Amino acid sequence: MRGVLSNLIEVNHSKIKETNRKKIIKLLLERTEITKLDISRILGISITTVSTNITEFKSEGIVEDVRSLESTGGRKAIAIRLKEDCKFSIGIALTPNHIKIALVNIKKEIIENIRISHNNDGIENLIRIINEKIDFMMKKYNLDSEKLLGIGLSLPGTVDFKEGIIKYSYLLGVKDFNLKEKFQYLNVPIYVDNEANLSAYYEFLSRKDVLKNLLYISITDGLGLGIIINGKIYRGDNNSSGEFGHIKVVIDGKKCKCGAKGCLEAYASMNSLIESYNEEVSENILDIDEFEKLYMQNDIKTKKVLDDYLRILAVGISNLIMILDPNTIVIGGDINNLLNDKMEILKKNIYKDNLFTDESSCNISIADFKESYMLGAAMMPIEEFLEIK
Ligand SMILES: [Zn+2]
Repeated sequence: MRGVLSNLIEVNHSKIKETNRKKIIKLLLERTEITKLDISRILGISITTVSTNITEFKSEGIVEDVRSLESTGGRKAIAIRLKEDCKFSIGIALTPNHIKIALVNIKKEIIENIRISHNNDGIENLIRIINEKIDFMMKKYNLDSEKLLGIGLSLPGTVDFKEGIIKYSYLLGVKDFNLKEKFQYLNVPIYVDNEANLSAYYEFLSRKDVLKNLLYISITDGLGLGIIINGKIYRGDNNSSGEFGHIKVVIDGKKCKCGAKGCLEAYASMNSLIESYNEEVSENILDIDEFEKLYMQNDIKTKKVLDDYLRILAVGISNLIMILDPNTIVIGGDINNLLNDKMEILKKNIYKDNLFTDESSCNISIADFKESYMLGAAMMPIEEFLEIK
């Protein structure tokens, strides 16, 4: 009995120690510099505990002294600061045409940004390229499993977050593939998640003081949805929530890349916008940049195609609102530039036949960042490191 009790006290003690550590690091992240006394006052932790922690942080290379500050008592107090290069995180995004990698420091500043195009010739090849780049960054920035907080990976497709398995990504041609185990040799936490989830997460982090729930609609090669409920990514009971692109909008409609017919994605992804244009004129534009260029040149066909597109996208968003009644929807991805001055039309279409809510009940906006999935992937190890459990 005594053994159990002392074990419990020990567990409790180490939990308090861990909590104090994280509280101090969080405060150091908010301040450029601070004295031990101020840390003690602000956090309500004894000065002895603060001092013990700071000594530990110094030996771990997490903090450093900055300079003496005149304190009121005439004695000089040393201010300390967090060294921004003490911890790093790597965010990696796999898209059908690119691998995007960002090295981010604990202050969430991007240190290195790499973009490589690929031919989508198999997941093993993509992993090989990623490992080369990780190796390059580990050497360049002297990273080891102490300094590197973890790696976040963003995928287009369904993912088993807990196990780090890609369940299905038709855009990458991958099914039931354990991605996590390919990076376990690094001996750091590995997070594998869906791109829309990570974009939603990133957008949420920048507004977490003001909201709890958020929907992120990701318009890229596919059409995805990230759902944040009470500050957490909602994944569904089988890791398959947010397959917004594959809700059916037309019975026996256009063939979708997933293999089914009449999915919203077949009408409302970026690819489908380009396809619709190519069908309309017998042209063959290849990407959204070309479409945008024609649109800016007042090409009538692009305007017609975009208007039709907005109508069907609005149907999808309207359905979402009917089910979830959100206060905040962020639309992001590859067609932000086109949507920016179309928001009023889009909102009008969304609320056209909605008798239950109106425009004033939900803030629908365009995302500030195009590649928020990569940044969300990079934030995950940092947020996990700082989270007080
Ligand atoms: Zn589909």
